[in-house]
Order: sequence, then structure tokens, then C-alpha cells
Amino acid sequence: MRTQIKNKVRWPSAVLLVTALACEQEQSRLPTPDVVATSRYIEYSTWADPTLLCMDSQLAAADLFVEKTAAFLHSDPPPVSSIRYIHVPESLQDPARTWPCPSSIGACFLREGRVLDDRSAIYSPRPMHWHELVHAVAHHAIGRGGHWVIREGLADYLSQAGSTGAILEDFPQALKDDLEREEPSSDYRMATHFVGSVIERYGIARFKQFVARLDSDDRWEGVSSAYALEFGQDLEAALAEMALAPITLKGLFECEGEAIPWTSDGELDVTLTGTCGDPFYVSPGVAEETPGAFKTYVFDVSESAMYEFSLTSSNPGTVYGMLQNCDFRASWWVALDEARSVPLEPGKHVLSVGFPYGDDMLGELDFRLSRLAP
Ligand SMILES: [Zn+2]
Repeated sequence: MRTQIKNKVRWPSAVLLVTALACEQEQSRLPTPDVVATSRYIEYSTWADPTLLCMDSQLAAADLFVEKTAAFLHSDPPPVSSIRYIHVPESLQDPARTWPCPSSIGACFLREGRVLDDRSAIYSPRPMHWHELVHAVAHHAIGRGGHWVIREGLADYLSQAGSTGAILEDFPQALKDDLEREEPSSDYRMATHFVGSVIERYGIARFKQFVARLDSDDRWEGVSSAYALEFGQDLEAALAEMALAPITLKGLFECEGEAIPWTSDGELDVTLTGTCGDPFYVSPGVAEETPGAFKTYVFDVSESAMYEFSLTSSNPGTVYGMLQNCDFRASWWVALDEARSVPLEPGKHVLSVGFPYGDDMLGELDFRLSRLAP
């Protein structure tokens, strides 16, 4: 089913009224752009130009992610159409009109009553944002979620991949510091290790019981007494134990894309094309300084080596590519006509590209990966 385009974006006349209100009210009365695409759980709207919108495959993937996340949390999925997703490219983010998130963070989830009375809303510059979707599902499945360490740790635990091995040394004291902070820090890795460790030790049912004992204004003292009540262990001792073993993040989204074959041994040289209707192509709305569309590709690397990675196109525009291995331990970016050396290890890799924008919605890029050494 093709995405239906209902209306072009327009500024509601309420904008002028809004600027006179106090901050909290202003946030709750920000205008919202029209819904331009829907899936089972999501109503999608964008402050970008939605004329050439292509969101069906992305929204289908988001529905699947919502269901997997709910199942992981031993919950029914949230009600149909209960999540409003508002795409706001960075060049269009304006706190007075389009952007209610705190200025220090790149995206946010707002409960019902904050922007829309009857449903929660996600604001993000990305076409889809798995971390914020976890917040929406968890809000339905486990309620307010207590301290930010629990909410943010859970969102990263389910929406990212990889291991927490690199942070263990500092973990006990750093988590204690996080639990004393009222506002989230910019680094969720300690929170993620804590939430993942609790879930791995005790399972989801006990984790939910623990969360139900927490208030959002709890600090170290409140969280440690809830921990002792639920699990019968001193939190300080538990953190010392958790620092001994890394956990693996769940990564409930799929590392998937259109498969691209190697051209020859150690050489991958291919013209990438994408158009609406391809399973891994998405056009979230068009704005200045962003690519018009995105697509993901996958390929396998058979041996460890240093490669040169480049993207070129005869059609200029704001274009980039991001290369990652599927455990997401490392990522490398290139802009159009750039080349960089990347150390790749055996395994499945995913390439995300932003296509130059054209009226035909057809993207075209040349992608090259060639082995430098050994
Ligand atoms: Zn978050």
C-alpha cells in the first residue's frame, strides 16, 4: 500500500496566540502538522515538505518493532494509532513553533497531555527512532518508569546492539552518580548496563515489580531501598557484582537492507539505486540540508582487513553514507566524494545512505569499498 498524502504542511493560525503563553502551556499547545501516513500503531506527521513522502516500509518495520518490544515487556501492544510521530528535520527545529524537546537533546518522547491530549508523541529528526519508540511502548507496558536511569536504560537496552564491556570499570560509582542526578546525563551507557543486568538476573516480571516500587523523584536512597525490598540485596553489593560481567544489548530492530554482492575479491563497486516501493527505501519529508531519501543495504565481510570506503554521484545534493557492522560496535560516515579508510572485521555489515533528492524520487549513488591491506 502506498503512503497516502493528505495535506501539505501549513502553520495553524494558533501559532500567533501560542507565543503569548507561558512556557509550560506553550509546550502543550504547540501546533502539530497534519497526519500524512499511518500504520497500525503510528500516526506519522512531518514539518518537512511531505509531497514525495514514502514511509510505508519504515512504518511497517516500526509496527513490528513495537510488537517485539511489547512482547519482550510481557505486555499487549499499545492501542491502535496511539503513537503520534512528529518528524522535525534539524533545519526546521524551532522551540516556539515546532520543537518541544529540551534544547540539549536530539529527540524526545512526550506523554499524552503534553502536546496532544489523547496520545503520546515522539519528536525526532530521524525518519524513525527506535529508542523513542521503546519509550512509547514502555509507557503503555510499565507506566511512568521511575527514575530516568530506568527509562533511558531500558530504551537503549532494547533499541541498540553491542556489549557493555567497555564501561565496567567505572560502573558502580558512575551509576551511583547517575541515580543522584535529577536530569538525564548525555551518556546512557551506565543506565543501560544496570537495566540489562537486572533483567538478565531476575527476568521481566521481577523488573516490572521493581519499577512499580519507584517514584520519578527517587534518588540513590529511594532506588536502593526499592532494590533491597524487591530483590533482597543491598544495591551497592549488587552493583559491584554487575561490574564483573558485560551484558549484550537486545537490538530488537533488524539489521537488514537490500543485499549487495562483492564485485570481485576484496572489491565492491556498485551503483546503488532506490525508489519508493523498494522494501528498504524511505522518504520522510524533504527539508533543506537533509537528503531527500534514505535506503539501507547489507553485505558480508569475510576477513579482517583495511578498506577504502567512498560514495560518489553525478547528482549533487546533501548526501552521506554510514557503514556499520551489525553488532553496531563501530560506525563510519562519509560525505559525497569523500573517501576514508575503515578497518572491517568478518560479519554482516549494513550501509545506510542518504540519496540526492530529485523530483522523480529515484536515488542513485556509486558505492565503492576496496581492500587496502593486507
Ligand atoms: Zn530516551
